[in-house]
Amino acid sequence: MKTSIATVSVSGELPEKLAAIARAGFDGVEIFDADFISTAYSPRDVGKMVRDAGLELTLFQPFRDFEGLPEPFRTQAFERAERKFDVMGELGADLMLVCSSLSPHALPGLERAAADFRELGERAAKRGLRVGYEALAWAPLIHDHRDAWEIVRRADHPAVGLILDSFHTLSRGIPVESIASIPKEKLFIVQLADAPKLQLDYLSWSRHFRNMPGQGDLDVLGFMRNVQATGYDGVISLEIFNDQFRSGSARSVAVDGKRSLIYLMDQLRAGKTAASATVAQPVALPPKAEVKGVEFIEFAVSKADATELESLLRALGFHIAGRHRSKDVALWRQGGVNLVLNKDPEGFAHSFYINHGPSVCAVGLAVDDAKAVAKRAESLMAEPFMQAVVQGELEIPAIRGIGGSLIYFIDDKSNLKDLWSVDFHAEPEAAGQGAMVRQIDHMSYSTEYDEMLSWILFFTSIFNVDKLPGQDIADPVGLIRSQVVQTTDGALRLALNGAQSMRTLAGRFIEEFFGSGMQHLALATADIFAAGRRIKANGLDLLPIPKNYYDDLVARFQLSPALIEQMSECGIMYDRDEVGEYFQLYTKTFDDRFFFEIVQRHNYSGFGAPNAPVRLAAQTRFARNLAVPKH
Ligand code: MG
Ligand code: MG
Repeated sequence: MKTSIATVSVSGELPEKLAAIARAGFDGVEIFDADFISTAYSPRDVGKMVRDAGLELTLFQPFRDFEGLPEPFRTQAFERAERKFDVMGELGADLMLVCSSLSPHALPGLERAAADFRELGERAAKRGLRVGYEALAWAPLIHDHRDAWEIVRRADHPAVGLILDSFHTLSRGIPVESIASIPKEKLFIVQLADAPKLQLDYLSWSRHFRNMPGQGDLDVLGFMRNVQATGYDGVISLEIFNDQFRSGSARSVAVDGKRSLIYLMDQLRAGKTAASATVAQPVALPPKAEVKGVEFIEFAVSKADATELESLLRALGFHIAGRHRSKDVALWRQGGVNLVLNKDPEGFAHSFYINHGPSVCAVGLAVDDAKAVAKRAESLMAEPFMQAVVQGELEIPAIRGIGGSLIYFIDDKSNLKDLWSVDFHAEPEAAGQGAMVRQIDHMSYSTEYDEMLSWILFFTSIFNVDKLPGQDIADPVGLIRSQVVQTTDGALRLALNGAQSMRTLAGRFIEEFFGSGMQHLALATADIFAAGRRIKANGLDLLPIPKNYYDDLVARFQLSPALIEQMSECGIMYDRDEVGEYFQLYTKTFDDRFFFEIVQRHNYSGFGAPNAPVRLAAQTRFARNLAVPKH
């Protein structure tokens, strides 16, 4: 099965688009008429450019307002088509997409449209060309692929076929089972696009909000299962109109597109029945990674700024549990949480530090089979990472994740399970007060707004995680788009916060950090009140939360005055859902960037989103050094 993408899907001038598309590994490209018209290259040069890039020209599109016209418009439409056939001849394109008519002159009637297509097919065939008919979701007469198919069937010409586009079918809720009975040789090309569920007219929805399969809410997989049932083995092409993609990086949009198709084909293969045939890719990927937990989080720091982080960790109840055998790296531990502080003047962490300052440079995930996960990730176009290790130390499989940070994979199938004893020697634990936190609850990343869809596809395609519905959260100086991906059991919970304004906390983080990265780490405790008191007694400031918030809590949840009093002492915030309760507190943000959160979760499945605007305002006051009035 061949993959293709329309030039309209990626940004830039035509040569840049073609280079990005070829580099991402597509087999072919659809030339979008507007991209062709606006280029200064001749049709022959464009055709040559496509072939020189190693691409096949899969489709020339669109040709509009063709069928159902009375004279003199009908004759004019055929003349327009002949001129486009001339262009196609020079381009070296053999298939033209005709989309259903929006013309106010067009008359209804399947037979009339079929007659028009029979004649168009005749003219195309004389030149060795073919035409495919596509029903646009917003067209007044033909907006259902079943009607378009009926016209193609009645046209009954070998040079006339049907073009399916998942957006047009799925946006209108047309039953996808109707596809399975279409003869595969009459399907000339299949275009794919996903989209978020929105209350919008079809045209605006399609023109601005399409995204890659797996990034939206449409059942593109169900659509493709029915295409697969026809035995179709032609081109699968992405046609993505998206304002964000058009202004983004051509390269990363093309890579996302290719990744989405590899993932889709893998899902098709997994669900393949003996009767359905050939769409899926020939080689199966290793299964989606089951994440069992977060094994460690690694901070890149210099010797100088390690002191601040170390005293913060100490105040949060962590102690040094091990030191690396060959590097200036310490393991800080508490309960089941391992934090690695890397001060080594060489290696990946150090170069990450040079680029980003003190920061989280890597996360180690406990998975079922580390090698298999790395292989799946690489098959899905993740960038593998290898670091030189001293003999006797472990080579841990890793890939690049958000902002170029690393994701390591650790399993207990191999010697990776002995990581802490092989690479580290243990430090005796001083008698302490016992752990106040037990495990990592969630990790929160600030990302560029237009990277969010990429990372969602990255995580959902590699790992067995679900994405929760996105939410908009008010920061005092702009909106933040928040989206969570997580495993069903909560072993991995990632919150991605996309900053639309650089003035928001997430935006300031990205500016100072020079890119996307982890901004806070939430640790789970069994007793947040004890934890809050102990952290304060250790001399660490917690984020103060205003009295108005607590007055509102009383009104919303009827909490006792004694409980409210205890909460406000440590800046503890509260939320509740149908089944559970959630308590959360925050350390002050150091350097206007990283902070810790402590949470206590009782069957609660959210992240305290209603509290986020209050917390963000408190953090902004802190960052600006504004006084907190007493009342
Ligand atoms: Mg289309
Ligand atoms: Mg949080």
